Amino acid sequence: MMFQRTAMIAGNWKMNPRHSDAEALVKTIAQGIEGLEGVDVLVAPPFTHLALVREAIGSARIFLGGQNMHWEMSGAFTGEISGRMLQEATCTHVILGHSERRILFNETSETVDLKVRAATFLGLIPIVCVGETLEEREAGQTFEVIRAQLDASFHNFKADQLMRPSTILAYEPVWAIGTGRTATPAQAQEVHRFIREWIENTFNTGTAAQVRILYGGSVKPENIADLMSEPDIDGALVGGASLKGDSFVQIIRYGKA
Ligand code: PEP
Repeated sequence: MMFQRTAMIAGNWKMNPRHSDAEALVKTIAQGIEGLEGVDVLVAPPFTHLALVREAIGSARIFLGGQNMHWEMSGAFTGEISGRMLQEATCTHVILGHSERRILFNETSETVDLKVRAATFLGLIPIVCVGETLEEREAGQTFEVIRAQLDASFHNFKADQLMRPSTILAYEPVWAIGTGRTATPAQAQEVHRFIREWIENTFNTGTAAQVRILYGGSVKPENIADLMSEPDIDGALVGGASLKGDSFVQIIRYGKA
């Protein structure tokens, strides 16, 4: 039986934009998606913009997410934000294990696992990122690398034999992030299929059918429709193109212009 997964288009703002530009960006998105159904829209602003962005969202159907969190609830962790704090700032989702965090801030799948567990415990939906580097792809190690990231990033879920179907994954090949170089729909589909099979083998068929797997890496209005036509691509995690209201709306409205 085919399970109909609702598409999700998520904007990862990273360390952008300026506070003064965030409100206008949200308003453009809110206007652009008015009356639109069948797609979940999310923005993940910097922590310092969360309150402003929540206010700007108003009654629009836009989910709010954090870009990272600590796995403890509170304590002496200078510079960190807990999942509970994200919830207090009205976030429903949190991006975990983005490649920039893994590469630039030495985040490991082991800490991602602790964060996934803490987020899930709180009822925050994790968007867990995995992806290989160009070197790994060229060495023919893509599947091996993805499997290792999945095994370690979901170690606690595996121990409990349970992955909540609301969990979201994002396949983000490192070589396609911010480079203008997108994976072809076929390249992305192959890895998405692999991830879905991993969920099926590790948990069960029902969970595998429900979990959404987003693609990320230079998604633009020009390539979203082809990516979304693949059976295992359920949406996109968008960096650069989510900072321009018009292009983000075009991505969200792909095929519905
Ligand atoms: C990202 O960092 O999640 C991303 C996909 O960035 P970009 O769209 O800019 O490649």
